[in-house]
Amino acid sequence: MDLVVATFNLNKLKEIRKIAEELNLDINLRSLNEFKGIKEMEEDGESFEGNAVKKARGYYSQIGLPVLSEDSGLCVEALDGQPGVYSSRFAGEDKDDYKNNLKLLELMKGIEDREAKFVCVACLVLTEDKIEVFRGELCGKIADEMRGEYGFGYDPVFIPEGYDETLAELGPEIKNKISHRRRAIEKALSHLPPNY
Ligand code: IMP
Repeated sequence: MDLVVATFNLNKLKEIRKIAEELNLDINLRSLNEFKGIKEMEEDGESFEGNAVKKARGYYSQIGLPVLSEDSGLCVEALDGQPGVYSSRFAGEDKDDYKNNLKLLELMKGIEDREAKFVCVACLVLTEDKIEVFRGELCGKIADEMRGEYGFGYDPVFIPEGYDETLAELGPEIKNKISHRRRAIEKALSHLPPNY
């Protein structure tokens, strides 16, 4: 069976294929790159749920095959949940990870409460009226400085609960086992009908 992953990012597709493999699911996961003339859906919603649902419905209506989408970001307790849905453009429209991390560290200077979480919301659209949403979270804290070389986004400043290193120090093997994305996608894929 085909399931379209609502992304043009082949690394994301690879990551999701690995999860499907580990769950022993025999699904043909396809990225948006395989379809011609797709209009990219904007992520301009006020919530992760809103963005994930908008993407999944939008691509389902363009392609006509079941779609799995996801939206994610970092929520910092002391900043009232910021950067949240604005995570990728926190420091500007150029979506620069380094600048985003610098801005975050600057805002967190002198703040004792470093609690934060990564959130991922996955949305599965199997048919026009069958839309389901799954949430995954990874709790942790914001480091005092950027550390580590792996990953992307806020990985260099995020220390997951139970560890002393940042996600960028821990590397992909550990991250892919514990991440918010892993948790949400695993829930979504496990929810596919048995004959899928
Ligand atoms: P998107 O859901 O791929 O659009 O990601 C939104 C933004 O959230 C990214 O650009 C990052 O800034 C941040 N983000 C989401 N997931 C992660 C992660 O696993 N590590 C670091 N940053 C992340």
